[in-house]
Amino acid sequence: MSYQVLARKYRPRTFADVIGQDHIVKALSRALEKDRIGQAYLLIGPRGTGKTSTARILAKSLNCEKGESVAPCLACGPCLEIESGADMDVVEIDGASNNGVDDVRDLREKVHFRPMRDRRKVYIIDEIQRLTGPAFDALLKTLEEPPDHVIFLFATTDPHKIPDTIVSRCQTFEFRRLREDDILNKLLDICQKEGVEVSEDVLGAISRGCRGGLRDAESMLDQLLAVTEGVPTLEELEMVAGLARPECWQILLEAVSNQDGAQILKSVDAFLQRGGTERDFVEQLVDALRDLLHVALLGEDVLGVVPSADRQQRMVKLAGALGQDRLETLMGMFFSLESRMNQSPLSARALLEWTLLRASRLGDLLETTTLLQNLRSGTLTATSVSAEPPAPVKKPEPVRASAPTLPSPPTSPTPPTPSPSATSIQDLLKEVRERRPSLGRVLTDYLVEGTLHEDRVEVVLQPLEDRSRRMVEDPIESRFLKELPSSPGPWTIRYFEKVQRHDPLGEQLKSSFEGVEEVP
Ligand SMILES: [Zn+2]
Repeated sequence: MSYQVLARKYRPRTFADVIGQDHIVKALSRALEKDRIGQAYLLIGPRGTGKTSTARILAKSLNCEKGESVAPCLACGPCLEIESGADMDVVEIDGASNNGVDDVRDLREKVHFRPMRDRRKVYIIDEIQRLTGPAFDALLKTLEEPPDHVIFLFATTDPHKIPDTIVSRCQTFEFRRLREDDILNKLLDICQKEGVEVSEDVLGAISRGCRGGLRDAESMLDQLLAVTEGVPTLEELEMVAGLARPECWQILLEAVSNQDGAQILKSVDAFLQRGGTERDFVEQLVDALRDLLHVALLGEDVLGVVPSADRQQRMVKLAGALGQDRLETLMGMFFSLESRMNQSPLSARALLEWTLLRASRLGDLLETTTLLQNLRSGTLTATSVSAEPPAPVKKPEPVRASAPTLPSPPTSPTPPTPSPSATSIQDLLKEVRERRPSLGRVLTDYLVEGTLHEDRVEVVLQPLEDRSRRMVEDPIESRFLKELPSSPGPWTIRYFEKVQRHDPLGEQLKSSFEGVEEVP
């Protein structure tokens, strides 16, 4: 038996097999049960989401020999022939083919004849937006007075290119992109039925890479199985599908958030090594930033794909760490980077690396600006006892607020929780010394008293000379301390001689700044 591609072999044969389009399946099933099937349907949606499969299933439901049914028998003449595309009364026309006009003209002539065998004559026109003007005109004439025995099923990826006169005569159904989890489950099922072993990592990467199109996911799996011997790896998938490892943007943006310059340079290098250009990099990075914003705000990415729960959590956490202000600024930086690259293509890589490294310092820059504004407006004095940077003047909108008309994310995103706290102040200071030697040395050498609270750190130091003091009070360092993996929260640094139990200004500052997070 010849090999059948997976997308074809596992194409849905009944409404029960159609995944991720419950709203459409329900509506069509109800119409069938109540015998209220319309005369023309317009099925809208991205490629590979089940439009033509659904059209064929409906054709079977209407023409099955066992009678009109939501669950056609799949064994009678009409059922089998519709599946193989051989039924004389179910005509499929490809709007993208050259003979679209001829086909529609032919349709106009034959549409009035009774079906040869089946109860209904069904015309399925795929990619209907590709028909030419004359073909649309011919079609419209038929649609204006359709014979009772005829049903039209139009499928399109781009409804805006269809004349209103046609659209207004159709009932419209919108197919959604599939959820990552639904695609993953389907791929797992296929692998099991095929008796092939593919790791969930690889299948997960495919379900992310196909962006909600099941057919694309199945084709990727096909290609992968065709070229690999043994169990396919992520590297092989990368080669076959040209898919950058989906985690790579997350890793890069986390490096930007953590000011991890080495990782940033590594990410750029890895991407270019794989044969991508600097422009590709910027384009895909901007997409990744948009996805991050969309997932954080709406629970689904730019295209409307709902990511798997753990990926969503990771994205929400990253978006929270970066903050909406910084995300928007980053997008702006990369937009202007594109045009700069065009002006000096030879230094594209250097420009890219420089922009990314600068982007990683953006949090500091934004905070310094705020600090300066606050100093000028007098809300903070230079001798403030708090080392925690002041709250931003304009508090950014909460990143995870969801718009009222949109469904909220399936898992309630939690704000980033600090990693398990250090057990003692000494552990914490050790961590500081490892990452910022000079700061760590000052904090250790001048420490009088340190207290580790559940949500903050209080440190009392001996008086410092100006230079050390400037370093300790630098907002960049404050932020660094607060964001140390083992730090429970912001650090308050006081000086031994100035500690006053009832310092009204100090208390006031403390209560206004403590617990204020840049982003909820
Ligand atoms: Zn049947």
